[in-house]
Amino acid sequence: MLGCIVDAHYGIPTRCPCGGRIVDEVSLGKNFPSDFDTHPGRKYFTCANFEDDGLHFRQPWVFAIQDEVKAYLSALMKWLQRSLSSRMS
Ligand SMILES: [Zn+2]
Repeated sequence: MLGCIVDAHYGIPTRCPCGGRIVDEVSLGKNFPSDFDTHPGRKYFTCANFEDDGLHFRQPWVFAIQDEVKAYLSALMKWLQRSLSSRMS
């Protein structure tokens, strides 16, 4: 179960594996042992039922957005390649 949850951390989460809704959270300090930075104002996508047991989502905002941008850029590059190759033929 834990492996599935770790693998599911990609992009902006829409629902936690526990069924909990995702809420936007701003961490003003180090609240959980998994916090790797104490810089105030760090944003997370967090399960509404979050417990620090590894079974709920608490995705750092910056990593989720980075995944989304990479996916959009990849889709854009594929579309451009298809578009250019169809114009060449
Ligand atoms: Zn959850």
